[in-house]
Amino acid sequence: MKVGKAAAAFLSCFLGVSLCMWAGSQVPPASGAARSGAGQAPPAAPSASRGGSHDAAAGQAITAYTLPPAEERQAVEYERAGDWLYFGGFAYGLAILLLVLAWRLPPRYRDWAERTTRCRLGQAAVFVPLLFFTLAALDWPLDAAGHWIGLHFHQSVEAWSPWLWDWAKEQMVTSAVAIVLVWILYSIVRRSARRWWLYFWLAALPVLFFLVFISPYVLEPMFYRFHPLAQRDPALVAELEKVCAHAGVEIPPSRMVLMQASQKTNSLNAYVTGFGASKRVVVWDTTVARMTSPEIAFVFGHEMGHYVLHHVVWGMLIGAAALLGLLWLCSGALRWSLRRWGARWAIRDANDGASLGVLWLWISIFLFLGSPLSNAVSRHFEHEADRYGLEVTHGIVPDSAQNAARAFQVLGEDDLSNPHPSPFIVFWLYSHPPISARVQFALHYDPWGPGRHPRYVR
Ligand SMILES: [Zn+2]
Repeated sequence: MKVGKAAAAFLSCFLGVSLCMWAGSQVPPASGAARSGAGQAPPAAPSASRGGSHDAAAGQAITAYTLPPAEERQAVEYERAGDWLYFGGFAYGLAILLLVLAWRLPPRYRDWAERTTRCRLGQAAVFVPLLFFTLAALDWPLDAAGHWIGLHFHQSVEAWSPWLWDWAKEQMVTSAVAIVLVWILYSIVRRSARRWWLYFWLAALPVLFFLVFISPYVLEPMFYRFHPLAQRDPALVAELEKVCAHAGVEIPPSRMVLMQASQKTNSLNAYVTGFGASKRVVVWDTTVARMTSPEIAFVFGHEMGHYVLHHVVWGMLIGAAALLGLLWLCSGALRWSLRRWGARWAIRDANDGASLGVLWLWISIFLFLGSPLSNAVSRHFEHEADRYGLEVTHGIVPDSAQNAARAFQVLGEDDLSNPHPSPFIVFWLYSHPPISARVQFALHYDPWGPGRHPRYVR
């Protein structure tokens, strides 16, 4: 998470938890919006070898997640590049924000905004994009490096010009949302310098819930095309409906959507998004192209686990609680740092709009430090969804344990997952358990013996 992306991060703190992907992305997404699309890239050539090893894997039983030596080296390098980008990017982002504060850009932008209009919302509409685009421009080399890594390791297939356009769209969307949130924020800070963190939290929650709700309709189609799965692959829908019947859950085919990810990425994925009337299961077309129907049934079972176990709602509740803690910490840190450096940065106090730059600094720091915690929560949800997927496909696909292990093997090969990630990197960055652990769980999970019971699907 880059510091300059604080506002996007702020949103993703919320949106991110509410979006349960089947697989995590290794290179941090270009946007804070927890989508792995734009920041990932891929492939050109190696897909042939992928298909090949998948065929080989199909012939023999899987006992562990493995890659051929050359690919394993690639996977390790790919992961290392992503780690450097993440940790180095955090330090770089901090440096940028401190420079922007030292150059006194926020007070300068504030003065421009105040001279332009007396309307507070209008001032936010001038000030926020100015600050945002300054930070985004300074951060751009990092985003570009992320895309370059994706291309280099054949994870992205998106050419530079559409990637740039996606990048620009992200900045515009983030900035539009931020104008509204910042306007609300400073209206509140001006009224209550001590308790703003609490009142702003109350005010921001409905806005954030609304964003999660409309995201499948408005935000996601800005970056990808979607088609009803039933239209593109009726046979697959029939297979998936068998899984639904086994679970005793009705997910109407209208909630099953195929996402055209193949224009941008080689990675495989599927996710649940939205909530209430906008909740739906999305399967990437790359997944459909490279997996067998029983394997997709397992992926779908995992996604249905998120759906049935209410992970989107849980994610939002946990996100809301985390947001409250974050705002409380930030209010203290903001007061402290303005006492120390306010004069040097030419920022009067917390209710001076220019303090937004300082607030972003702290939001970024706390989100960075909170990353192991949010990832631990995410890994827990993902593990339970794996369990659900195994239970719901048991007895309806041939050899469900091997089938799941094979699906993970294909996923690992395609996403170039490191078979032996360092425990520290898993602790800090992994939103999903490592593939090796997921394969082992699939192979050894057996609640069907005498005296035992599956946890979710009887
Ligand atoms: Zn998942």
